[in-house]
Amino acid sequence: MSKKSHKSAPFMCGQCKHGFNSERAVKDHINGSHPTVRGVGIFRCISKVDGPDYEESYADRAIAASLAMAMGDHTDDAWLLGE
Ligand SMILES: [Zn+2]
Repeated sequence: MSKKSHKSAPFMCGQCKHGFNSERAVKDHINGSHPTVRGVGIFRCISKVDGPDYEESYADRAIAASLAMAMGDHTDDAWLLGE
């Protein structure tokens, strides 16, 4: 396996990209670590993404995943499309 598991940290701070295991934990983190930053997005790695913008690499992977699925290929990134 590679990289960090999204299952252990499905929520991510949009400001510093730190992962957390609950939405509440992200909000607490944002209040504590980024009190001066307005509109910090909470990224939800499971199905849908909340926030002002997307992580670029996720967007690239989502595009690749949609192409793979359109061609009938298996993709491990289907979760990026909410599948
Ligand atoms: Zn943060």
